[in-house]
Amino acid sequence: MRWAVGTPLVVLGVLVGLWLLSRSWTFQLMGELYPRVETSEKVVALTFDDGPRPGQTEAVLELLKRHGVKASFFMVGRNIERHRELAARVLAEGHQVGNHSYSHHRLIFKSPSYVREEIDKTDALLRGLGVEGELLFRAPYGKKLLVLPWLLKQGGRKHITFDAVSRDDETQDVELLTSRVMDAVKPGSIILFHDGGQDKPGTLKAVDIVIGRLCEQGYRFVTVSELLKLGGIEPANGSTASPAQ
Ligand SMILES: [Zn+2]
Repeated sequence: MRWAVGTPLVVLGVLVGLWLLSRSWTFQLMGELYPRVETSEKVVALTFDDGPRPGQTEAVLELLKRHGVKASFFMVGRNIERHRELAARVLAEGHQVGNHSYSHHRLIFKSPSYVREEIDKTDALLRGLGVEGELLFRAPYGKKLLVLPWLLKQGGRKHITFDAVSRDDETQDVELLTSRVMDAVKPGSIILFHDGGQDKPGTLKAVDIVIGRLCEQGYRFVTVSELLKLGGIEPANGSTASPAQ
C-alpha cells in the first residue's frame, strides 16, 4: 500500500525536478553554462534573440549605433537563411553573432541527432556569413535537459544564458521591461531582449532607457565574448572569440 501511495509522489517529484532543471538559467548537469560572469567592473552584455527579423533588427541596430554600443545577437538559423543580408549587416556593424538553433524548437525530449543538426546547421550558416572564432550557443527558450548540455560539452561549447531578463516576448510595457532589467542588472550581467518574433516597439524604448541609465551609472557595454574574457573565461580551443571584423 505504501508503495502504491508513494510511487505517484516520486514520479511527481522527478517530473518537477526535470521541469526545474530544464528551465534553470544558472544550472545544467554538465558543460559550461554562463548566465553572467564574476567581475567588479561595471560591464554588461546586451543580447538580442530570435532574429534577424526585417523591421525590428534594423531598428535595434540604429538604436545601438546611436548609443555607440556593441551587442550580441543569438540568431535562429532559418531566419539567417531568410534574411541573410540583414544577418550580414549585424555582423558588419561590429556586433557578435551567436547560435540560437536552426528551428527554435525546445531542445528537450529530442534525439541527439536532432539536437546536433539544430546546432550544426546554424553553425554552418554563421561560418558562411564569415563569423570567426568561438561560436557561442544559446538554447531556444533557455531550455535544456541532458542531450543538449552533453553535446555542447562534447564540442567544447559554451552555453550562454542570462541573468537580467526583460521578458519582452510576454509584454511590451516599457516601464515593466525597464524595471525588470534595471532591478536585476549588476556588474557582469547578461541582459536579454528580443529582435525576433512580433513587432516590439516597447523593446526599442526600453533598450534606449536601459542603455541611458546604465551609462549614467558608469556601465559600459561589451559583447558576450568580451564579457567572458573580462571574467577570466578563455575561449574554447584557444580560438579568438572576437566579434566580426
Ligand atoms: Zn529564442
